[in-house]
Amino acid sequence: MTAGGSGALTTRLFAPERGPRPQRPYPRDAEVPHTPLRPIWCCRADGQPWPCGQARLLLRVEYDGNLPGLSIYLAGLMYDAMRDLYHLNPHDAPTPATLFTRFIAWVRCRPA
Ligand SMILES: [Zn+2]
Repeated sequence: MTAGGSGALTTRLFAPERGPRPQRPYPRDAEVPHTPLRPIWCCRADGQPWPCGQARLLLRVEYDGNLPGLSIYLAGLMYDAMRDLYHLNPHDAPTPATLFTRFIAWVRCRPA
């Protein structure tokens, strides 16, 4: 498959579109939501790397019975976080494995 109409093979991959808007977990009452502050991807409420513990709990509740949906939502955000964090700090950003663990791997775990 070629790109750009030149007929030449390319190794350049097209970047996917932006992922979902990080509006979840939804805030309860008037509290500051545990949503990510971009582009540094820390929690707005407590400053922890997002998703913080509280965000994980709230997301688990919101997506109860739809863990595949939660994984897909978080995968989109992980991609955006990779783009933001590598753009901010190309030499010292978290590794892809670290971001996978942080964003997605916890979803399959039972809460303690
Ligand atoms: Zn938080």
